[in-house]
Amino acid sequence: MRLIDHYQKFCETLVGVYSISETNDLFKRLLFGFFEWEPTILGLSPDKILDAQQIQQLDDALLRIQKNEPVQYIIGKTYFRDLKLIVSPATLIPRPETEELVEWIISDFDTSAPKSILDVGTGSGCIALALQNNFSKATITAIDKSAAALAVAQKNATLLDLPVRFEHHAIEQLPLPDVPFDLIVSNPPYVHRDENIAPNVRDYEPHMALFAPQENPIYFYEQIAAYGKKALKSGGVLYFEINPLDRKELMKMLLKNDYVHPEIRSDIFGNFRFLKAIKS
Ligand code: GLN
Repeated sequence: MRLIDHYQKFCETLVGVYSISETNDLFKRLLFGFFEWEPTILGLSPDKILDAQQIQQLDDALLRIQKNEPVQYIIGKTYFRDLKLIVSPATLIPRPETEELVEWIISDFDTSAPKSILDVGTGSGCIALALQNNFSKATITAIDKSAAALAVAQKNATLLDLPVRFEHHAIEQLPLPDVPFDLIVSNPPYVHRDENIAPNVRDYEPHMALFAPQENPIYFYEQIAAYGKKALKSGGVLYFEINPLDRKELMKMLLKNDYVHPEIRSDIFGNFRFLKAIKS
């Protein structure tokens, strides 16, 4: 079978599910993800002959795409800032908004790098690894209560040769550090149970990483703020990715807990998505 024939099959099968341009994009992402073929190959070598194994791989992927599975899980990797990361259904797929959060931190510390950082609910490790890649001398600890997510994060650290310390803890049981942290960052689960979310997210990504506790959507933020009260040095900084719906309550909660100068920033989509505050 030629490459162009397989592309044709993709387009025909996904009519009504994805637009032609989305299908084209998905197909090219699979070609790169599976075989590292550049997106130009379809135009340059449409008559390239696929071997049986390649056809099988693309056919399996097509079935999964029809069922709304995110392409990042199908190819098993994604990109976050300048890093290539493994992802599995044990972890959330890193989002472009989270890249912006990392960007904010890096720009705040462009003259003096933080010495010690804690990342709470690290998932694939994206935030901790991107920070370690930028602040090479910092000691970075990253925790998650999911052992399966930590295994993915640890694999990413090994492949990237970045010395983040991944530890299996829930925030409620995290011991205090010997030396206080300069910075705590977190992108905890924040989607409200009654929010509408896309089926490809709801049906495939880990609910433990997505949904905030129903009875108290800011529960994890409260836990992290309380921990930070003891574990951050004075003048240390807290950075959160947030649900815009929670922003007012989060500001109030932080001010009540001795944090000062809370600041909210929007993401590229114009949503109030990030919150920073200083420990007094
Ligand atoms: N941004 C993710 C989403 O909207 C949720 C991430 C999270 O809950 N921390 O799907």
